[in-house]
Amino acid sequence: MRVLCLLTLCCLASVASGAELRDLRLWESPEGTRVVFELDRVPGHKVFTLDNPARIVIDLPATRGLQTAHAAQGKGDVRSVRAAEREDGSLRVVLDMARNVEPRVFLLDPAEQYGHRLVLDMPIPEGAQAVPEAAVHAGPPVVAEAWQPRPIVVAIDAGHGGEDPGAIGKSGLQEKNVALDLAQRLARLVNAEPGFRAVLTRDGDYYLGLRERVTRARKAQADLFVSVHANALKNRSMRGSAVYVVSPRGASSEHARWLARRENAADLVGGIALENKDDELAAVLIDLSQSSTMEASFDVGGRMLQALGKVNQLQRTQVQQAAFVVLKAPDIPSVLVETAFITNPTEEKLLRDPAGKQRLAQSMFLGIKGYFESYRPRESGRTVAGAAPRLQKVRTE
Ligand SMILES: [Zn+2]
Repeated sequence: MRVLCLLTLCCLASVASGAELRDLRLWESPEGTRVVFELDRVPGHKVFTLDNPARIVIDLPATRGLQTAHAAQGKGDVRSVRAAEREDGSLRVVLDMARNVEPRVFLLDPAEQYGHRLVLDMPIPEGAQAVPEAAVHAGPPVVAEAWQPRPIVVAIDAGHGGEDPGAIGKSGLQEKNVALDLAQRLARLVNAEPGFRAVLTRDGDYYLGLRERVTRARKAQADLFVSVHANALKNRSMRGSAVYVVSPRGASSEHARWLARRENAADLVGGIALENKDDELAAVLIDLSQSSTMEASFDVGGRMLQALGKVNQLQRTQVQQAAFVVLKAPDIPSVLVETAFITNPTEEKLLRDPAGKQRLAQSMFLGIKGYFESYRPRESGRTVAGAAPRLQKVRTE
């Protein structure tokens, strides 16, 4: 047994009064495994790794919660979770790992329903059998290169995920699950359309930082970015679909401003890894002056509203504007769809019903299709309808 590394980030304040482990959650994503300790106060903690076999040990001084720790199940690179109360009153949690990995450790402040959180991110080591890029659907086996029509790429972003459930309906329906279901339905419709390809920013129950979502869309050279959500308000009578585009200036209404604040808080709730912020993207996010992108976003948003109005009430008949972080790619037309109010009993039913969800996905798809039939994807001289597709170099058999 050899101690590989010792990270001591101890906060003595909590030792005196004692803390309680409220929950221990594990999440698996294409990037790696995340372990979240939720406590009622700022946790003092010590984290170190051991090898042969690979383990990560987390000591929480003066902390109760053995049962909570015992209830946690292994996931991703964490094969199993063990816990014990030690004589000094600390709680020791041992993660049995599938391989040696250096965890990134950080704290998150209380947000929404959560208390203080200690987060361990265990990225899949570079070159290791990485899970295939979540959403980019692989083509046929590759052998040679040839020029082929480049499809229109639609990036579909299921809001929230993992640590961040998003809004929660009265019956317990969670926005993150509805958003993923709707996004997957929309992706199937897009992929069934010749000349189109869908790319999902996430295709499982894990959190992705807001900027990481944009990065993925840009990597996939998306021609359009659609973020799928379900709205929420304390007032349960509020209902209706709404579509938003980014606003470089002010929000178009008090509600839009409130909503953008709520959606932008996802990173605080979901827990982004600090390493996710890269300067290149930050620079890209600053320039919001592209008026053609804005015009395109309004166009596709308007078309979606028209179609959504046939399957659900509209909260607003016009495309709304607010400063959503996830819509800030200046080169990709981007819309955020609040498909329905998860807090409204009638609309929660719609969001639970497979046929209802399919109709909502259809509406979004009609908006997308209509837009590409009349707008020219960038770097193309032609519309989709007007034949002569863009070419890209792809590798085929
Ligand atoms: Zn949302």
